[in-house]
Amino acid sequence: MSDITNLLDLDAHGLTEYCAGLGEKAFHAKQLQRWIHQAGAVDFDAMTDLSKTLREKLKARATIQSPCILRDYTAADGTRKWLIDIGSGDAIETVFIPEKTRGTLCISSQAGCAVNCRFCSTGKQGFNRNLSAGEIIGQLWMAEFALRKTQRPDTQTTRIVTNVVMMGMGEPLLNFDAVVRALRLMLDDNAYGLSRRRVTVSTSGVAPMMDRLAQQLPVSLAVSLHAPEDALRDTLVPLNKKYPLRALMRACQRYLKAAPRDFITFEYCMLAGINDQERHARQLVTLVQEIPCKFNLIPFNPFPESGLASSSPEQIRGFAQILRAHGIVTTIRKTRGDEIDAACGQLAGIVNDRTRLATRSRPARTQAVRQTIEIHPQ
Ligand code: SAH
Ligand code: SF4
Repeated sequence: MSDITNLLDLDAHGLTEYCAGLGEKAFHAKQLQRWIHQAGAVDFDAMTDLSKTLREKLKARATIQSPCILRDYTAADGTRKWLIDIGSGDAIETVFIPEKTRGTLCISSQAGCAVNCRFCSTGKQGFNRNLSAGEIIGQLWMAEFALRKTQRPDTQTTRIVTNVVMMGMGEPLLNFDAVVRALRLMLDDNAYGLSRRRVTVSTSGVAPMMDRLAQQLPVSLAVSLHAPEDALRDTLVPLNKKYPLRALMRACQRYLKAAPRDFITFEYCMLAGINDQERHARQLVTLVQEIPCKFNLIPFNPFPESGLASSSPEQIRGFAQILRAHGIVTTIRKTRGDEIDAACGQLAGIVNDRTRLATRSRPARTQAVRQTIEIHPQ
């Protein structure tokens, strides 16, 4: 094991302990945190308010490990996508979606995913590994400072990423400790200072971990529902066999007691002929009748081996109408950055040829990260 510590892995508590271990006072941890997460510094010599001795100690024992960017795409609508190499042939994606009044960053929590939902290309890769806290917060760190350079070169302080959604690759609640440490940094006033309302964890329904999140760090919650009854959900989200809808709905109710918002967002991927019929909409109304919620209908983003198709726009509109007629606020997710999704489909081949990912026989693991802009309009 290397004795070099990646400071991106440490939240405020970790950084304070780290400074104590170096024989330094706690307030240096705050200074250090501001340099890293508010100024985007990587060079310890630039941290001019730290003593020379501390800087020398840090230079010998610590690093601020930037994510290794393999590809960086910007679509015509401003959506920007990064493909990040995390070693051993694994790659993850981070997506920034700019809008008039906010900028949303979609972050990955794992390479691959063990849940294996039928309609998800990440699931099809199987589970590769958990990301460390540094690799998770590193996506925000990298995006914020890359965007500041291109979008607002005149300012060092105005935040560009205003919202974070954990809707990239992986199931965040199955990488709980690292995700919570990264979330703490997102909320920390000496780091990104985002409000709990502007940080959303999306889960396929790991009920006991929803309780733990409520206790430890309640942020906004999105639950990927996709079906109104167990028999169907079992086939789409295999985790449903472990935490069926009744248990999941109860967990949602408990979560709401601690949540920063007074509703849960239910995500529902619209699959032609599978979960998009009128009766499914009516069953949903009954299922969620005791849960303050909003629905976000996601047109299925097809990939070749899925054997599935997206519901038509008319079918999705009709489905939304039924939910709305019963008083449920329902949005239909817009697709953003289409052409970089396409580029991403071609990416595997390109990456295989030109990087050390080429050592793997299968293509670089990547997928089109789902676009997330309809979540929680501010
Ligand atoms: N694992 C978490 C978060 C990542 S997935 C979860 O499942 O919630 C984020 C969202 O993208 C989920 O709602 C998921 O169901 C959806 N999704 C996955 N694959 C998709 C696809 N091919 N088309 C549209 N949405 C998809
Ligand atoms: Fe995992 Fe979410 Fe994909 Fe399901 S939808 S396989 S939980 S990343």
